[in-house]
Amino acid sequence: QHLSKHFTVETNFLGKPVSVLKAVDDVSLAIQKGEAFGLVGESGCGKTTFGKILVNLYNPSNGKIFFEGKDLTALNEKARRSYCKDIQMIFQDPYASLNPRMTIGDIIAEPILINNLLPKDKVEERVIYLLNCVGLAQHQRNRYPHEFSGGQRQRVGIARALAVQPKLIVCDEPVSALDVSIQAQVLNLLDDLKEEFGLTYLFIAHGLNVVKHISDRVGVMYLGKLVEIAPKKELYANPMHPYTQALLSAIPNINPEKKKERIILEGDVPSPINPPAGCRFASRCFKAMDQCKENAPVLKEISPDHWVACHLFD
Ligand code: SF4
Repeated sequence: QHLSKHFTVETNFLGKPVSVLKAVDDVSLAIQKGEAFGLVGESGCGKTTFGKILVNLYNPSNGKIFFEGKDLTALNEKARRSYCKDIQMIFQDPYASLNPRMTIGDIIAEPILINNLLPKDKVEERVIYLLNCVGLAQHQRNRYPHEFSGGQRQRVGIARALAVQPKLIVCDEPVSALDVSIQAQVLNLLDDLKEEFGLTYLFIAHGLNVVKHISDRVGVMYLGKLVEIAPKKELYANPMHPYTQALLSAIPNINPEKKKERIILEGDVPSPINPPAGCRFASRCFKAMDQCKENAPVLKEISPDHWVACHLFD
């Protein structure tokens, strides 16, 4: 609820911030148990920072995080860490997120040992089970990350996240560094594991085409703010925010009858350092009105479960 993460970029001689990067700015959303929530937006819109707040890699500047009804932000650091096991992250870059000096068996075993989840003599059995779950053979556990392809490394990252039996997994662009031919395999694997282990996903991506298959609901972020949230089918059939319309128009369609006219956004994304007052999308919006530069729109429910932050719907 109302989560923000602000980074101070510059201070004055009194140590007071004069320049603040608002990576995430007053974002509220609820993720239901068992759902896959897709979070989409351009690079730098704050979606990864939002995910890192959930897994306790960043402390929020403001706002609260409720997990199964418990306010995690009200807990002290030690108590909060005990919840970290339940919320895991799969990282974007499978090349950088695995320790090159550890075998993949040790990489997967490490979180089990740190959290004292199993007696030592049972850990290997669990590692073999997890390798099997992600489609890797048990003899591969003695190999090092550099001996694997990108898709296989991402499978190791998934097995490591599953090792502590989490409830919520933040998938931070898990396929964007992979070849297109491998992306579908990893997405299908994540989909199957969600069913098998009763997982909940926050699935972060920069394009709407990636989250289309895996998400139940989708949220669109722009410059630190959520601008639209809707169930997947509704969002793709009836995008209301001009930014969502532009993102959707960029998805190629091989059926010429269904092809939408491409909306080209002019200009660059404004800096998140001291972002503009009013609507943050106003400088690039093809439907901007006079009031847009003055007043910031707030998220409103326009139709059941479809929320939009845009003055067109005031
Ligand atoms: Fe465009 Fe105005 Fe809506 Fe912002 S509030 S998206 S500038 S129409």
